[in-house]
Amino acid sequence: MRVLVLSDIHGNLEALAAVLDAAGQWDALWNLGDMVGYGASPNQVVEMIRPLATLTVRGNHDRICCGLTSTRNFNPMARASAKWTMQQMSAENLEWMRALPQGPLETERTPEDEARVTLAHGSPLHEDHYIHNMRDAWAPLQQMATQIAFVGHTHIQCGFAQKEHDWHELRPHYASREGSQMWTLPIAAEVRYLINPGAVGQPRDFDWRAAFAIYDSAAREVVFHRVPYDLDAAQERVRKAGLPKRLALRLREGC
Ligand code: ZN
Repeated sequence: MRVLVLSDIHGNLEALAAVLDAAGQWDALWNLGDMVGYGASPNQVVEMIRPLATLTVRGNHDRICCGLTSTRNFNPMARASAKWTMQQMSAENLEWMRALPQGPLETERTPEDEARVTLAHGSPLHEDHYIHNMRDAWAPLQQMATQIAFVGHTHIQCGFAQKEHDWHELRPHYASREGSQMWTLPIAAEVRYLINPGAVGQPRDFDWRAAFAIYDSAAREVVFHRVPYDLDAAQERVRKAGLPKRLALRLREGC
């Protein structure tokens, strides 16, 4: 089974369109949340991803933008964009977001591969936890119910692998920051993996290109991808919407 794994679209319609275009054919789409917040196209993004996603877990921005929890813990920029998003979204889209499950979710068994996979927005242990380094990854790697978990939330494309006392961090190596690039991670038996496909709509690893991953359960590999998208159009929409200017600038900086 070939699965498109994506996270943190953040209302960036141009980035999502480029990812769907570049991903080719897939059998399932796993969406790790934060579809909205920051970007200027929340309704369009939800309406594009909703019919395509096989499984979706909610992100903290999804939860807050549909009014399930308050903006209290958000910084002023995140709060301003959450309030704007809440006002823009249709009643139907808000209702759909309110019903989204909180991670972790376990996927169905696939025909070729008996293994299930865990999906979470932040961590398999808590939807709001950030996994930035091996220290953050250690407890979830021990405690998660499956060999592989996909997580988002940090907006940084990376992975963490562990086999008994042997562990390492994984960072995709790309030849350049131009054009479309990919990097393959083979999945080894008896190694546990936490994998972050990166952010579609607001990368924070100093690479502005949209990030996603393809998990191939038969080939036992995860392929990380970066693809360029119409950045100018996405920035223009943010400016026209009257959202904080920094939200447009940071798209180019990739941070
Ligand atoms: Zn996010």
